[in-house]
Amino acid sequence: MLYTSTRDASLRITSAEAITRGISADGGLFVPCETPKIDEAFLAKLVEMSYTDRAKAILKLYLTDFDPAEIDACVDAAYAPGKFSSADVAPVVTLHDNVNVLELWHGPTCAFKDMALQLLPHLLKASAAKTLRDKKIVILVATSGDTGKAALEGFRDVEGTNIVVFYPNSGVSPMQQKQMQTQEGANVGVCAVNGNFDDAQTGVKAIFTDPAVKQLFDEKGYVFSSANSINWGRLVPQIVYYFSAYADMVRQGKITLGDEINFVVPTGNFGNILAANYAVNMGLPVRKLICASNANNVLTDFITTGVYDRNRQFYMTVSPSMDILISSNLERLIFALSGEDDAAVRTLYDALKKTGRFDVGQATGDRIRALYAAGCCDDAATKRTIRETFEKHQYLCDTHTAVAVRVYEDYRAKTGDQTPAVIDSTASPYKFCTSVVEALGETVDGDDFAMLEKLEAITGIAAPAQLAGLRDKAIRFEGVCERNVDDMRAVIQRSLGL
Ligand SMILES: *Cc1c(COP(=O)(O)O)cnc(C)c1O
Repeated sequence: MLYTSTRDASLRITSAEAITRGISADGGLFVPCETPKIDEAFLAKLVEMSYTDRAKAILKLYLTDFDPAEIDACVDAAYAPGKFSSADVAPVVTLHDNVNVLELWHGPTCAFKDMALQLLPHLLKASAAKTLRDKKIVILVATSGDTGKAALEGFRDVEGTNIVVFYPNSGVSPMQQKQMQTQEGANVGVCAVNGNFDDAQTGVKAIFTDPAVKQLFDEKGYVFSSANSINWGRLVPQIVYYFSAYADMVRQGKITLGDEINFVVPTGNFGNILAANYAVNMGLPVRKLICASNANNVLTDFITTGVYDRNRQFYMTVSPSMDILISSNLERLIFALSGEDDAAVRTLYDALKKTGRFDVGQATGDRIRALYAAGCCDDAATKRTIRETFEKHQYLCDTHTAVAVRVYEDYRAKTGDQTPAVIDSTASPYKFCTSVVEALGETVDGDDFAMLEKLEAITGIAAPAQLAGLRDKAIRFEGVCERNVDDMRAVIQRSLGL
């Protein structure tokens, strides 16, 4: 299986190269040249398997330049017993009737990013061994909160790798800051940057592109790489849980092998729902993918009209991980649905850069709507949904999951589509406890940690240990730097012991 670029369809590289490079030099994203197809016998076998065995089976279809034993070792390390608080890794639970929740937040940082970021470091290390030889990888991350922590946990103590995370000094929640400042591991570094997220991101980009910095680290045997969500190595682990959810639905007797189901996905950068699309292309029986957005509803409009227009107000919502106006992974869908027309993709993304909008036209729009439905809701509806879901179904969901529940219930009421449904739950409610406490109609009278205890008292549901234990954990990283290349380079050098 070879990979190509959405902006240069003549390119051919291996999966190891795609994972090491992250993004194509032409600015495009790497995509597989073919779709591996599965049949009902393959699905029947998955039903009997553990999550790790399902992951091994799916990954082997895509990473054909890896030795099968190498894939087994990567998967075993990522989902080793004890890393996820559920033995099923990503369990499917009933919400009501034939509506189910796929819980993707049982990993070390309590958000769905762990599903991919626990595996990516191992894939990246194995990929780099094939493509870079002898070099050690330094992962640089600028984070607005969740990704940084998930990347730190994923790369912590993975041999041959280092990770340095920069976060905006005045831009993450107290809980998120504490999560990062207390990070354990011998190969990790964390530093606050004076400024907002854009400043941190601009600084990291400047480090990546500065030739003098590159040479300095190159001489010491290090190369920079990134763990962001457009890396194929983050997408491929996400395909697994769509197959796994389907297999669990069969195993639990909720559907019969071959039945269609719907998936509902709270969406930001379009990575999670695109992984579902790959599963569908491979042959997973799915009727609709329902794309759920918060008030930043650029994708709802795009799926409904075919026009992508980022010229609109940006809202800070209670579901911050979905506060995005440019959904990078959408480029992969457009490439596929335009008949792998790289020139068409270049034209659209040039227009997006220049004017902030593009129109894919009626034919491509119709192809998108054949599989996708879309909807959105604001913060008031999100909070109402958290409360109603808890009162009616005794299920406590976080703000991102609540957006998906709301959009799904609206979709079901409007269309009458009774197909069994699986709603992705992307974070533990305890990760966003202040908003959840407020949603339940209680007063907010303390910080995130006080609200965590309050939420435990209200619901009788214990918080995940890794969040509850955070308040008293020793701080390891208190540094603050300026956002210039010299300061940030010095932070990286210190972290590597150079
Ligand atoms: C990142 C994230 C999302 C959005 O996922 P995309 O793959 O970017 O669409 C949704 N919910 C939570 C909690 C997240 O952390």
